[in-house]
Formats: sequence, C-alpha cells, structure tokens
Amino acid sequence: MDNYKINTKCVQAGYRPGNGEPRQIPIIQSTTFKYDTSEDMGKLFDLQATGYFYTRLQNPTNDFVAAKIAALEGGTAAMLTSSGQAANFFAIFNICENGGHIVASSSIYGGTFNLIAVTLKKMGISVTFVSPTATEEELDKAFQENTKAVFGETIANPALTVLDIETYAKAAHKHGVPLIIDNTFPTPVNCRPIEWGADIVTHSTTKYMDGHGAGVGGAIVDSGKFDWMAHKDKFPGLCTPDDSYHGITYVEQFGNAGAFITKCTAQLMRDFGCIQSPQNAFLLNLGLESLHVRMPRHVENGQAVAEFLSTHPKIEKVNYSGLKTDKYYTLAQKYLPQGGCGVVSFEIKGGRKAAEEFMKRLKLAAIETHVADARTCCLCPSTSTHRQLTDQQLVEAGIPAGLVRLSCGLEDKVDLINDLKQALEF
Ligand SMILES: *Cc1c(COP(=O)(O)O)cnc(C)c1O
Repeated sequence: MDNYKINTKCVQAGYRPGNGEPRQIPIIQSTTFKYDTSEDMGKLFDLQATGYFYTRLQNPTNDFVAAKIAALEGGTAAMLTSSGQAANFFAIFNICENGGHIVASSSIYGGTFNLIAVTLKKMGISVTFVSPTATEEELDKAFQENTKAVFGETIANPALTVLDIETYAKAAHKHGVPLIIDNTFPTPVNCRPIEWGADIVTHSTTKYMDGHGAGVGGAIVDSGKFDWMAHKDKFPGLCTPDDSYHGITYVEQFGNAGAFITKCTAQLMRDFGCIQSPQNAFLLNLGLESLHVRMPRHVENGQAVAEFLSTHPKIEKVNYSGLKTDKYYTLAQKYLPQGGCGVVSFEIKGGRKAAEEFMKRLKLAAIETHVADARTCCLCPSTSTHRQLTDQQLVEAGIPAGLVRLSCGLEDKVDLINDLKQALEF
C-alpha cells in the first residue's frame, strides 16, 4: 500500500483479503489458537516463528488494524493496546526502567502527566518537564546521563499547545535517545510526526481514530529509524539477550524495524496484558475507514467556532492554533498545514458561574468527559476534572475558572454556532 495516498490507506491498508476471504476484517473472537505439534507451538514461544498462541499477547484482528495505523503514520511496525494510557506507559517503559529518566513536555494530557510524574516515579523513573516550545539550549539542559527518551504531544490535550517536533527530535537525537510523540489530536491525517523526526508515535485511539465514542483503545507505532545498537549501553533491553526468551537479542533478531514492537509485545503485553479486545479493534477500523473524511470537517467546524467566539463580547480569550492571533499559529502552519483538530478552548467572562450557566444552556453540545467525537461535547475543567483546585491553583495550572473545552463534532457549523450564540445570551 506504500504508494497510495493517505486517504486510500485509511480505507484499505492493513488487511488485504485473499481469494474468497471476507471483505471486512474478521473478528477473531478466540482466546487461543490450535497447533498440530508441541514443537510448532514451541517455536512461537521462542520467537523463532511468527503466529498466534494466546490473545493476551496478540490477536490477528488487532494486527490487521495495527498494520493500518503503521501505514498511516509511515512506521515499520505497530501494536494496539487497551487504552491510550497503556500505549504511553508501554512506549516509555519498553526502553526506560528503574533508574532511568525522561524529558517530557510540560504541556501534555493530565492522565499522561500523572502517569509520568506519579506512577512512573514510584517505579524509579524520574522526569524533567520542559516547555513545548523550548529552545535547543533549554532542552539540552534537561538531559541527564540516564535519560532514555523524550516525550511530547503534537497538539496537547487540553492546553492545545503545538509542539516544536523538529527541535525536540534534534535534541533527543543529539543525546542518543528516541523521541516519542503522542499524535492523538491531529491524527496521521493532519500530521505525521515521523516525517519531522519522531521515532515512536502513540495514540489514544479512543478519540478521533475511533471517532464515535464507541471503544477505548490505544496504539504504538515504531518508525524503525532509531539506531538502538549505536546507543547500546542506554538500551540493554533491546541490545542484549533476553533471558525470558531463551537469550534472543531483539535488535539482532528483528532489526531496527521490528525490535521495539516485538519486545513490547513479548515482554510488556505478556506481563501486563493490556490488550485491546478484537471487538474494539474491529470498531476502531470502522472509524479509521472514514478518518480522512471526518478530520477536515472537524477542522472546518473548529475553525468556524473559534472565529465566531473570538469576536463575541462575552468571551475573554480563545485558544485554537488555526487563529492568526493564537500563540501557536506559526508552529501550526508548519506542522499542521491542513489544520489541527476540532477541539477549541475558550474563557468566558464571569468565571466558573458563567461557564456553568453557559454549558447548561447548550442544546447540541453535551457535557461529557470526552473529546474528539462525532457529536459535539464540552467540559469545564474547573467544575469537573480540576474541581479540587482553588482559583489560585487553577491560574497557576494555566486553567482559568471560566475555561471551557469544546470538541466540535461533525454537525453543521451553522447549527453549532447558533447553539453557542443562544447559550451565551444570559
Ligand atoms: C485521552 C488521551 C490519552 C489517554 O487515552 P485513553 O484512551 O483515555 O486511555 C492520552 N493522550 C492524549 C493526548 C489523550 O487525549
């Protein structure tokens, strides 16, 4: 499928049925797989042969869908996980263990921030947070001898900052470590971080990829470009024998193209079991088949809503990188020339009370802890996800009390704007 455009890959990459085989990806609803001899199965356990033996590690339905996501991102290998959280955890933990350190953008999803700052810390992994627009010199200072990876989000949820991917990649490579990019918000339709130097790409497929609020899921894609052996001392897990697999060395056996995902499947999926159900993988693929049709509409609606809100007298400030006045406009022009996503955030004059009143009046946009859905939804962080913070703490976190995050769906933009207009009349 390599020579086809991304629109065609969204529809047909990953699964190519043979003569007389089902046109749609089959849901292999089976925990286990049958073999004629113990010897046949033994080869799978030794990673001497490829195949399936237990759905806690791998399932054919998932692999068809993962192959499509790899094709969309321009990677060499991919795997699905049970959630975006599992994807980011695996992507980091696959190369960074107790005693390791990572450099991460400070502007990332709250769940990932907590994973890194609290849970990974308990596992002995430390972090230095830096600005998403850090300069090369600022990034340089964040590295330590034990740094194993750099992490950031193309467009951060919910801050909507745009990461300077090239600068981040340059810094990571200078220090001999890979750049991991969470590309959930733009999706590969609007940005392919590997083309800008990222080595590993992660997704919460729960968002635009699924696109219909149907299934929680995640994905990890390897670019196949990082030269692990050139930094062998930093990555013993990939470059020295694995005792739990009869002494195979992942990079030697699977090359740079396959080592990362094979190790991640063989060790982390085996031990943690965060597999996506084949049913959810099937639903995810239905979403992917229209991703290239849906993303431009999400962007069109996001842009129209952002422009409307930016001229409204009750609105203090609008964050959307498609607005010329936005701090991230220039970076967005470079990394997201077709637009970023449908998520807009804005501050209503009158703080928490005004935000609550406004949201109560909305008729099309539902109040939900969700984004990137076909149906428009909204959330006020100060009264929901961040309600434990005081007004002062909210300001420090960059979340004004009157901030609303609106995820523009696929409805008609005229109706969405009219809904906002009537809800602001109080
Ligand atoms: C939602 C989200 C996650 C977490 O994904 P889940 O599927 O909810 O586990 C990670 N990163 C980003 C950018 C997200 O928006």
